[in-house]
Amino acid sequence: MVHFVGAGPGAPDLITLRGKELLEQADVIIYAGSLVNPKLLEYAHEGCEIHDSKDLNLDEVIEIIKKAESAGKDTVRLHTGDPSIYGAIREQMDILDQNKIKYEIIPGVSSFCGAAAALQLEYTLPGISQSVIITRMEGRTPVPEKESVEALASHGATMVFFLSSGDTKRLQERLINAGVSGNTPCGVVYKATWEEEKKFICTLDTLDENVKANGIHKTALIIVGDTVAQSGYERSRLYAPDFTTEYRKGTDADAGKE
Ligand code: SAH
Repeated sequence: MVHFVGAGPGAPDLITLRGKELLEQADVIIYAGSLVNPKLLEYAHEGCEIHDSKDLNLDEVIEIIKKAESAGKDTVRLHTGDPSIYGAIREQMDILDQNKIKYEIIPGVSSFCGAAAALQLEYTLPGISQSVIITRMEGRTPVPEKESVEALASHGATMVFFLSSGDTKRLQERLINAGVSGNTPCGVVYKATWEEEKKFICTLDTLDENVKANGIHKTALIIVGDTVAQSGYERSRLYAPDFTTEYRKGTDADAGKE
């Protein structure tokens, strides 16, 4: 069987208990070496066969899995963060389906959660933004036109840009051309939760210069939006003294509604 395991953002103790147990039991591990912290491999038992997928193409990954399957071995396919976000797992699962190879997915802490923790941010501040847009600027891989930086920026929601720290000059220009104010706060986190983590907050006007000054060009997230300032918000209704919930009696009448 194949287990697609979310490795979490980097710190080895941010993998789930289930993911760790599977790593400990695995006969074969295929991990994304460009992004997964190699310290996670210390959970593997001696004699476990370990492959770095950064040197492999899809066919080669599948060949390793097929070989393991025919020997009755268990494979962990270890993906950074959560496998559902830019994990390229669908194409692997489709081939496994064609080959009648069983698999399961173990979720992980995505790096956008690791970055929020690093900056001590709440992405969804009442009165400021109640949505988080997870996206990327197109580079060598395209993005559908209706999801362009400009189109998504029009919502004014919190935006988290994956895979975009290599060209912050263009990201900054495009956001400003789309009408986002140059004063909009931006958070940048490089290698969130790793020992070498770097993080800072700046404005959109100074995004590119700060990213360059910090020598960042990959493995970083760019967070753009007024929520990054973490001020000017309204207190949550849920904890307001007059708000009745299923669990707590307040002074209002709207109990039980979300
Ligand atoms: N599945 C992963 C994302 C993989 S795409 C997840 O859920 O996090 C790879 C991109 O994710 C990188 O280019 C970078 O933008 C981001 N990334 C992954 N790990 C990161 C980390 N620890 N800190 C900051 N960004 C990270």
